[in-house]
Amino acid sequence: MAVCAKCGGRLTRRHRKWYQRFVYQQILHCRKCGVDQQMPREFTLKPTAYVQCPRCHTHKVSRRIAPDKIDPVIKSFSSVIKGLLGGRLYHCNYCRIQFYDLRHSMKTPAVSDTERITL
Ligand SMILES: [Zn+2]
Ligand SMILES: [Zn+2]
Repeated sequence: MAVCAKCGGRLTRRHRKWYQRFVYQQILHCRKCGVDQQMPREFTLKPTAYVQCPRCHTHKVSRRIAPDKIDPVIKSFSSVIKGLLGGRLYHCNYCRIQFYDLRHSMKTPAVSDTERITL
């Protein structure tokens, strides 16, 4: 059983609203002091992890400013949600797919921008 970081009281699970389900794994509520403790989902816990292609798992992805009309955008649940949460658009050079991700590319944005021009 989890305990409150503030008063050490017992925490109970609180019902999440539909939009909170996407962001939080669970929300715990302290009955003693009334504090809510939010447990974020995995992708928000790893802000330093790098972007990976969801299909071939390569790190060699390039940043896209806007979706391009030639390659398909992956419509998987996590990709769509990350797009809604303000994720960036990336393109896999091998699979030729586009997807949204909240993590950063291994390359600096400046490098992928110059590559975009030469494509
Ligand atoms: Zn408490
Ligand atoms: Zn790929």
